[in-house]
Amino acid sequence: MPFSKLGLYSSLVRGAQALGYTEPTPIQTKAIPAVLSGRDLIASAQTGTGKTAAFALPILNRLGPHRDSGPRVLILEPTRELAIQVEQAFIALGKFTDFKSVVLHGGVTVGPQRNALRAGTDVVIATTGRLREFLDTKMLQLDSIEVLVLDEVDRMLDMGFIEDVKAIVKACPAQRQTLLFSATLPPKLAEVARFALRDPQRIAIASTQPVTDSVNHAIHAVLDHQKIELLLELLKRDDFKSVIIFARTRRGADAIAHQLRLENHPVGVIHAERSQSERVAALEGFRKGKYGILVATDIAARGIDVAGISHVINFDVPQHPEDYVHRIGRTGRAQEKGDAIMLATPQEANDIVAIEKFIGQSIPLRTLDGFAYEGGQPPRIDPGNAQANSPRRAGQQRLGTGGQKKGDRGKNQSFESSGKPFGGGNPNWHSKGKPGAHWRDRKGR
Ligand code: AMP
Repeated sequence: MPFSKLGLYSSLVRGAQALGYTEPTPIQTKAIPAVLSGRDLIASAQTGTGKTAAFALPILNRLGPHRDSGPRVLILEPTRELAIQVEQAFIALGKFTDFKSVVLHGGVTVGPQRNALRAGTDVVIATTGRLREFLDTKMLQLDSIEVLVLDEVDRMLDMGFIEDVKAIVKACPAQRQTLLFSATLPPKLAEVARFALRDPQRIAIASTQPVTDSVNHAIHAVLDHQKIELLLELLKRDDFKSVIIFARTRRGADAIAHQLRLENHPVGVIHAERSQSERVAALEGFRKGKYGILVATDIAARGIDVAGISHVINFDVPQHPEDYVHRIGRTGRAQEKGDAIMLATPQEANDIVAIEKFIGQSIPLRTLDGFAYEGGQPPRIDPGNAQANSPRRAGQQRLGTGGQKKGDRGKNQSFESSGKPFGGGNPNWHSKGKPGAHWRDRKGR
């Protein structure tokens, strides 16, 4: 179905076409008419599905010409980058309309944001912390809000923002349309939905197809202390155009970037401990091709939407399966092809099983020919031994210790570990093609 059949004004159809969108994505086909109908909505859709336009287009449609009556739309985002990016999407899609928007996020002074609000705006896009600052100091009131969007709610919950979200919802008029978008639907989300939504229509894109088909997944089994070597070797081999490397912790991200720079790779780094200007510079450098590699933590990477990312490399196996989906959502976006590579140690075996279950498919194991694996071959990965073998229990020095804030979850990953080869022999996973089947095959051996 073309955009012109969705009930949008022609100015918005032209906005979408100007961005090169020829057809709506599945979430857009479902959500646009739902939002236009005025009903509340819960949409489970992973990032990369086109969900921003799925709410931006019908919201812009509802707005009509700019009014000076105070903001009518409030969009809550978990990170600064995402807030900025969503505003960019609004501006691009609303190119042929005259709406005004303001982004409120932390990390910069309040003055210009306050002045922009005073100048009059239709749409406010905000992160929770800065928005509460504006509300608490009465620099902004939400009485005029007609549409509230809670975007990436699972992530906001993960980051511990539930009370902020509730306070913000309460500050909005009871009579409003509320749209909730989330890649996953954890139980806590039901609490927010009960609190914030009325008789919502439900749209599920993620649950049936949690991962886009355009991504090739692969795992490289490697001992912890050889991960960086393997990473450097991988970067020499494949046709890496534009790569995001995910690290679990901020210190881990810095350490990886350091190693890559030693090998003369142009690298940007993005994590929550970096200043806003550093984050923007890293992202812009990556977007424009100055850096072929961006090293990021999960939280910071939430807002990254860069066209043409060829590879996502998970330096650590994410401990929460949803994070895997978010991470690899950076590549293979909107019909492009992408590769998602995960470096996994025997200690991370259980996390892999959880990811495979979550995405409903096995991830093939790859061996890097000619790589000097300790023990002569990739380590064997066995979920039965994962906990017992975990170096995390041994209290070793870790790269990511200290400085973890709310939301920067997870165990720390170390380059150094005792890392004895486990077993030996090629693990020969995925013989049955079902998640976890390869584990069960090996039980009792
Ligand atoms: P999102 O899931 O909103 O982050 O969007 C993912 C990417 O898909 C963004 O780069 C969008 O510009 C792009 N996109 C969104 N809708 C479409 C569409 N209908 N056709 C092609 N690309 C799209």
